Amino acid sequence: MPGMETSTAGSPTPTTDPGAAAIPLLDAGLPDFPALTPERLRDAVLAATAAQRAVWDEVATDPEPPTVANTLDRIEAARADVRHAFWALYTLAGSAADDATRAAESELAPMMAAHRDAFYLDKRLYERLRTLRDGLVDPDPEVAWLLHRYLEDFERAGIALDDAEAARLRELNTAISAAQTEFAQRAAAGMAAAAVHVEDERLLAGLPAETVSGLRRSAADRGTDGALVTFILPTAQPIVTQSPSRELRERVHRASVARGFGVDPASDTRELVLRLARLRAERAVMLGHPHHAAYVAAGGTARSTDAVAGMLAQLAGPAVRNAHAEADELQQALTRDDPDATLQPWDWGYYADRVRSETYQVDEAALRPYLELDNVLLRGVFLAAERLYGLTFAERPDLPGYADGVRVFEVTRPDGSRGGLFVADYYAREGKRGGAWMHQLTEPSRLTGELPVVVNNLNVTRPAPGEPTLLTWDEVTTAFHEFGHALHALLSDVHYPSLSGTAVPRDFVEYPSQVNEMWAWHPEILASYARHHETGEPMPAHLLDALRESQAYGEGFRTTEFLAAALLDQAWHTLAPDEVPTDVADVEAFEARALAEAGVAMETVPPRYRTTYFNHAFGGGYDAGYYSYIWSEVLDADTVEWFRTEAAQGDDGGLNRQAGDRFRDALLSRGHSRDPLASYRELRGRDADIGPLLRRRRLTGEG
Ligand SMILES: [Zn+2]
Repeated sequence: MPGMETSTAGSPTPTTDPGAAAIPLLDAGLPDFPALTPERLRDAVLAATAAQRAVWDEVATDPEPPTVANTLDRIEAARADVRHAFWALYTLAGSAADDATRAAESELAPMMAAHRDAFYLDKRLYERLRTLRDGLVDPDPEVAWLLHRYLEDFERAGIALDDAEAARLRELNTAISAAQTEFAQRAAAGMAAAAVHVEDERLLAGLPAETVSGLRRSAADRGTDGALVTFILPTAQPIVTQSPSRELRERVHRASVARGFGVDPASDTRELVLRLARLRAERAVMLGHPHHAAYVAAGGTARSTDAVAGMLAQLAGPAVRNAHAEADELQQALTRDDPDATLQPWDWGYYADRVRSETYQVDEAALRPYLELDNVLLRGVFLAAERLYGLTFAERPDLPGYADGVRVFEVTRPDGSRGGLFVADYYAREGKRGGAWMHQLTEPSRLTGELPVVVNNLNVTRPAPGEPTLLTWDEVTTAFHEFGHALHALLSDVHYPSLSGTAVPRDFVEYPSQVNEMWAWHPEILASYARHHETGEPMPAHLLDALRESQAYGEGFRTTEFLAAALLDQAWHTLAPDEVPTDVADVEAFEARALAEAGVAMETVPPRYRTTYFNHAFGGGYDAGYYSYIWSEVLDADTVEWFRTEAAQGDDGGLNRQAGDRFRDALLSRGHSRDPLASYRELRGRDADIGPLLRRRRLTGEG
């Protein structure tokens, strides 16, 4: 389940003096990356934030009575330069970081938090916006909604606090931001430090030749002999599924789940976890909530932690029951190999893969020659967007990216007008964080006329020179997923930049991207992209059928490991400040207790992320919000059903312009320009129904 990044709704930003503050932009707003150094970006962020503050001051001290034009429009128009500079830096820090970039990011993160505070703790601005709201007669709905959003954000940010409290809040925000950045950096360092060096050749037996040569190359890259299993995912490593060597699997698994617990002191994150839990709890209490999770839920579509807890609890029982049934089956498979062995967590992936292939005759390796990256992107991901939304894509080799292998595409709308740029960064590289995510480099809006510039990030292993890039099925799904986020930005049609595209609450933002995964499976799209990279022949029907049938296999495991992480995230963030443990040695015990109390403790199924490498929860972005993925999946599953039934024409499965246009008009184009659930109701004619999700994840009936 890939993560993504979005701008925080309503977080302000940029400017009056483009000379000093603006970074050089190429066509359509793409930063001129080759011209940017970390120092230059740092200076640009500092200049742009200063210029933006000057605008805020001008608005706050304007002697004229507030109007939409002299208040709201100016605040919104002043976001651009900070956005451009900061997101360019964010791009480099996330995808091609060297030490200088990381240092600039670390330096600026607390400064950006303070900058945000400078806006949201400014009582003059708050009062001016309130006066504006109270004086408007029959306002434009988007204006009314934006004012509502701003005022709520001011209140959530602590505008009602007295001066002493506000000063403490600023300290907390700065400290939290710095700790999050350090957590993210340590978690990334922890992945590098966890690499497993293999000297005993026998442990490599049974692995595909290309995997072994990759492991040897990794060892050589680090100047050592033998083979090196480097960590390519923040979750479980693929080698644990591939390797017949129980010893190798165990070593990699143990290295994985020990990350951040102090084996490697430089990537120990336990003190940061405790510090963040305490600081966030203190801040939440100060803002009138019992704990951080309550504060977060109130800002989402869930509204309360009771609603979150109720939903997770509804799923936990059936999910764990299904996982136990799967464990029994895997134990039988293991027993056939080794009559005395008891199933361990490092056996799960390997035997699950075997049982799945035996049951469904599915062969992941046989699929890959049919899943070549260029085909998947140009004849799959892009084709679905063309069929649904009329978008077309043309590569712009004249526009440079920020690293080798980054490609830029021009997007054209159905009426022939320019639709912005799509940046495809699919390859893993040194200095790139793990996982997959989308982020933006602009904020499209009618107010500024800015076009969307969207980046999709994956971590596909680069093939040897001259070899094709063959994807796994998982990577194909991820490409469609991240492109769903991209569409949310590319199809955005709002007046105000801070309301554009993915600027929706966290527990809503995964919904459009999850929906987009459905097109990876669509027969017409599949037939177009799933072709043998050498012969061009379509993927054989038996492979396809097996893949389709096998997809439901393992839902017990997937749902349980997800829920365990989501419940862990809630457990850490439903503590009052004085309930947070103070000794780093307590982190592990707290985690075990939280999982047991939530009913999701299974020795063979660890949480998808353990506390110490749970970047969603502690690196900033999804803290107390990891539940969002399954929360938005309710909307996703219900919408997939809509495409396949009501929106379908004949047997097209919903792949038509009318369906796409309706999804775009009611939902994707709206961004956060109104209540997202109102957009949902416009699409579906009612609130979301949880039934399709329960059926998809096999959580109904007796499991
Ligand atoms: Zn996502």
